[in-house]
Amino acid sequence: MIKNENMRKANKIRIETVIKGLEKRGIKGYYAEDGEEALRMLLEMMPEGSSVGRGGSMTLNELGVFEELHKRNYTCYEPHSEKDPDRIIEVRRAIFSADFMLTSANAITLDGEIINIDGTGNRLAPIIYGPDKVIFIVGANKIAADVHDAYKRVRCDACPPNCVRLGKKTPCAITGKCGDCMSPGNTVCCNLNTTRYNSIPDRMHVILINDNLGF
Ligand code: SF4
Repeated sequence: MIKNENMRKANKIRIETVIKGLEKRGIKGYYAEDGEEALRMLLEMMPEGSSVGRGGSMTLNELGVFEELHKRNYTCYEPHSEKDPDRIIEVRRAIFSADFMLTSANAITLDGEIINIDGTGNRLAPIIYGPDKVIFIVGANKIAADVHDAYKRVRCDACPPNCVRLGKKTPCAITGKCGDCMSPGNTVCCNLNTTRYNSIPDRMHVILINDNLGF
């Protein structure tokens, strides 16, 4: 919860600008005052009985989204919870035919472009061509001025903590500075994707939260 009232007001204004940017890109945006409201909105958007794919996201972890889904009647596909390598591949592939894909963004611009990184592509691929509905849950800390700023955010603010979390031996994990690495099994930003337009009506939705979540 952001305590500074001016910061909260400014975030709300910025989120409203992002929502307008999303609208012209065929993506529906929603404002949530906090994580609890975001969770309520999300559950209303996904009827019980649906199948839901989990894209790796600290925001989803921090909000306890899948813990809530487990308490209800949802079929969840969560590659990160699997241990067996064959099963991980199977679950990653199953996400493509799930009813919903849930994930976050590594950055979102004021004009509504959604930027995501991926090491293997198992998160990006179903975002681009997978479930009938994709829902992004994004904290206000992810808002960037433009695509250039967003890519800078990805390399300065998203990759270093992700690499530290995953124990990767990348320059950003060791020095905090991107070294433009290309290292098998280490580089987490092999793919950098900008979603600039959604051409399938009602497919993409973004819940923007007035709080700092994930990285
Ligand atoms: S290219 Fe390598 S060093 Fe740069 S942000 Fe990505 S993982 Fe880190």
